[in-house]
Amino acid sequence: MTEKKFETNAIRNQLERTQYLEHSSPMFLTSSYVFTDAEDMRASFAEEKERNIYSRYSNPNTSEFVDKVCQMEGAEAGFAFASGMAAVFSTFAALLDSGDHILSSRSVFGSTHSLYTTYFPKWHIETTFFEGTHLEALESKIQPNTKIIYAESPTNPGVDVLDLAFIGDIAKRHGLIFIVDNCFASPYLQQPIKFGADLVIHSGTKLMDGQGRVLAGITVGNAHWVEKIYRFSRITGPALSPFNAWILSKSLETLALRVDRHCENALKVASFIEHHSNVNWVKYPFLKSHPNYEIAKKQMKAGGCVVAFEVKGGLEAGRKFFDAIKLLSLSANLGDSRSIVTHPASTTHSKLSREERLKVGITDGMVRVSVGLEHAHDIIVDIKQALESRC
Ligand SMILES: *Cc1c(COP(=O)(O)O)cnc(C)c1O
Repeated sequence: MTEKKFETNAIRNQLERTQYLEHSSPMFLTSSYVFTDAEDMRASFAEEKERNIYSRYSNPNTSEFVDKVCQMEGAEAGFAFASGMAAVFSTFAALLDSGDHILSSRSVFGSTHSLYTTYFPKWHIETTFFEGTHLEALESKIQPNTKIIYAESPTNPGVDVLDLAFIGDIAKRHGLIFIVDNCFASPYLQQPIKFGADLVIHSGTKLMDGQGRVLAGITVGNAHWVEKIYRFSRITGPALSPFNAWILSKSLETLALRVDRHCENALKVASFIEHHSNVNWVKYPFLKSHPNYEIAKKQMKAGGCVVAFEVKGGLEAGRKFFDAIKLLSLSANLGDSRSIVTHPASTTHSKLSREERLKVGITDGMVRVSVGLEHAHDIIVDIKQALESRC
């Protein structure tokens, strides 16, 4: 059989039909599964059979979601979590021992940063940051106890683009586990495994759900590492609910369609903002002015849904901008069908010191827009009037 395209697999890769011959996958809201007899029960627990036992371990709906994402990312295996942060934490916790060292790009999701600085030191797990846009120093930061290289691209919220193939090559040469948080790109725009990633993490809450309904997370990649993550997670219990998994599998059917429109709209919004006189700078991976435009073009299909910019006039002008917004939502999510504006310095990255924020490019006047699926004209009209308001 010839290989099917991304869009076809996203729709046709679904659960086997039950006796009812349903067209769309049903929801399996069951916490456990039955055994036919004593021998079946023993063999199932001994893992001599591949089957569902208990929904903390596996469930048909979560398996469907995991299979779809594995196929999209070119991954061997995966495990689905109740949130993106459950995926991030469980992945680290399953793979690291006390005394190990993480080499992470400095610019990461705010809660991931808090894991490094607030919690991991309790277990003697140390983190060193590298500058994602100055990778020449990366290799020299590897220590004898380094186990993981961790990166996001594009980054949240600064939309920096990191050269994944460059990092992947270093990780391979030093025998390190290379993990990429691919949430901003979605598997439709970028598949980090192609560039040497061993594991790929997503917050399914963002573009995968795409309609701001559920929280979810997933880690996919090398089967050996996923097995360790599975063993840890079936004990500790961060599993995704079957209901949310069902929502996500349905959402993935339209991922390509939605993300295409997100990117089309975002490029229009970024191009408009770039030429506005009340803006200091704008960053979007597929704008020619982006410092890593060439790398973005090489590793991504399009630029994603997030545009970052800085309003002229710092914090005060930023506040005026947010107060003048009428159509867009003031919220902390992204990848939603509804366009969202966020002020990272006072929300998602408020736990970082101002100095740490400035190091990753989060200035006081920085605005993050998650461009949604409304008509681009209406999104631009709202941003324009907010930029020009003097309330
Ligand atoms: C939102 C997000 C997360 C965390 O996901 P949750 O589902 O909110 O727990 C992790 N990484 C990135 C890049 C994110 O944007």
